[in-house]
Amino acid sequence: DAGGGYGGGSLEEVRVPDIGDFSDVPIIEVLVRAGDTIRPEDPLITVESDKASMDVPAPKAGRVTDVLVAVGDRVSEGSPILMLEAQGKAPAAPSPSAGGASDKKAAAPAPQAATHTGGADLECEMLVLGAGPGGYSAAFRAADLGMKTVLVERYASLGGVCLNVGCIPSKALLHVAAVTEAANAMADHGIAFGKPKIDLDKLRGWKEKVVGKLTGGLAGMAKARKVQTVRGVGKFLDPHHLEVALTRGDGREPTGDTQVVKFDKCIIAAGSQSVKLPFIPDDPRVVDSTGALELTSIPKRMLVIGGGIIGLEMATVYASLGTRIEVVEMLDGLMTGADRDLVKVWEKVNAPRFDKVMLKTRTADVKAQKNGLKVSFEGDNAPAEPQLYDMILQSVGRRPNGNKIGAENAGVVVDERGFIATDKQLRTNVGHIFAIGDIIGQPMLAHKAVHEAHVAAEAAAGQKSVFDARQIPSVAYTDPEVAWAGKTETECKAEGIKYGKAVFPWAASGRAIANGRDEGFTKVLFDEETHRIIGGAIVGTQAGDLISELCLAIEMGCDPVDIGKTIHPHPTLGESVGMAAELFEGVCTDLPPQKKR
Ligand code: FAD
Repeated sequence: DAGGGYGGGSLEEVRVPDIGDFSDVPIIEVLVRAGDTIRPEDPLITVESDKASMDVPAPKAGRVTDVLVAVGDRVSEGSPILMLEAQGKAPAAPSPSAGGASDKKAAAPAPQAATHTGGADLECEMLVLGAGPGGYSAAFRAADLGMKTVLVERYASLGGVCLNVGCIPSKALLHVAAVTEAANAMADHGIAFGKPKIDLDKLRGWKEKVVGKLTGGLAGMAKARKVQTVRGVGKFLDPHHLEVALTRGDGREPTGDTQVVKFDKCIIAAGSQSVKLPFIPDDPRVVDSTGALELTSIPKRMLVIGGGIIGLEMATVYASLGTRIEVVEMLDGLMTGADRDLVKVWEKVNAPRFDKVMLKTRTADVKAQKNGLKVSFEGDNAPAEPQLYDMILQSVGRRPNGNKIGAENAGVVVDERGFIATDKQLRTNVGHIFAIGDIIGQPMLAHKAVHEAHVAAEAAAGQKSVFDARQIPSVAYTDPEVAWAGKTETECKAEGIKYGKAVFPWAASGRAIANGRDEGFTKVLFDEETHRIIGGAIVGTQAGDLISELCLAIEMGCDPVDIGKTIHPHPTLGESVGMAAELFEGVCTDLPPQKKR
């Protein structure tokens, strides 16, 4: 029982109550699934008449064992909606949300909340802790909904990891890498530019300008919304008070002063930080992604520990600056989560770029020497001798900051890894405290944090918002880019989902050929029974932009005809999405004849 606290109650049928004028009305949304734990008044379904739409609320708390309706069904007063294992008492902790604290273990018992007896320097309706993409979006949405909002952030600029040391600076540098590679490739087409001259200070300056433009924009938008920012490290004193140890300077230099903020409601958005391997020495030549983005030097030979997206993106940047790269990964493949056929394309293109990719291999020891970092390895592809590197990038994952914010004083449950579990409204076990973003679980991505932020702020403002995404896309902005959304083939197989797929090779795309980059493909996965799209993936240049169409198609429940009959502009890479859908139907004329379905 992932919900913690439920179970053993009586099974009841929940029916549509008297909802006034709504008779024989279609259901436009089903907001719960079997297995969900719900609270009284949680919205179950949305119905729509020709005048208005309306949510049907839960009559009581419990666990949904069976949903008896689907979108499109027509209901009236008395129509059964679902079966509920009813329970009187409130849950100890909510079930993790779709992307939430990833394991489904029973939640830990709630800690005894503390009581703050002192006063407060500031009072607000909504306090948001952390100003990353989750936090600033939550604060701005809450303010837009009329709540007096305070945003607490320890660093000088808003934007969190994503804007300051994550998504944005990495993409600024990856853009440089892509243009450099494209310019180099022109030699094959008759235009030679010569060897690039790198001015590292100027490059760093440009990256910082990009970051500054965006974070400065956030500060302006906070002001425009009258969101009050408090600069310092926040720690809960009790369920309604947060103490902020004020900071100054670029980092987290304490001023020695504190401020106590009293709040009615709170959204925790304190994010995550890089994991550091314990046996790796403290040495300026060992960096995490933040250090790598600082671009202090261009090492001759670099080891990237961890073959996930962040490691491979940074490896792409340094490779284009001329660094020789080796990658070591404990697992048997790179970019966990992506289907292997996509990764194979990436591997083929990158084989000449990286000296070595050592899979199923572990970094056993690192010694900091004057002449470099001496690394020994263990495992299937370990070199016999220790190797010497000028720089090591550690990118072995990120750990949530849940254990560093005094959550126990507020009575909020944090698991042993630092994740906070939430329900689908992003509510923690404490009803007026919500949590969003990296701190609630995988996938740790900015777009997930932003969407959760909106739901949490809206739910806190009394709206019936729920986080119920069918898909959260993942993108490796490598060269080529690798992007996937919805179900992967690996997931379909593991979950026993019967699916059909179509793969449109970019070798048949006029635009990809004209770009000199036709190694990629576009893959779509459809449910064999409903024919609705359930997943899709693209490997190739700009795959990260192209995947959005598949994201929308999955959310809209499109079938191959919807996608294939949509006229896409020619000649574009985006056409490959339409053509993959046509291929599924057996009506694609840009490939040799297919079997008609
Ligand atoms: P964060 O961005 O971590 O923000 C949390 C904020 O809370 C921080 O500013 C922190 O200083 C503050 N904070 C924490 N504790 C306290 C406290 N006690 N008091 C005051 N303030 C506190 N995601 C993508 O979607 N696309 C990408 O391309 C992408 N690229 C990435 C590249 C790199 C190199 C890295 C490291 C990450 C990347 N990510 C990317 C992930 C993305 O950055 C995160 O998922 C996202 O920033 C999470 O947002 P968040 O609001 O949950 O937390």
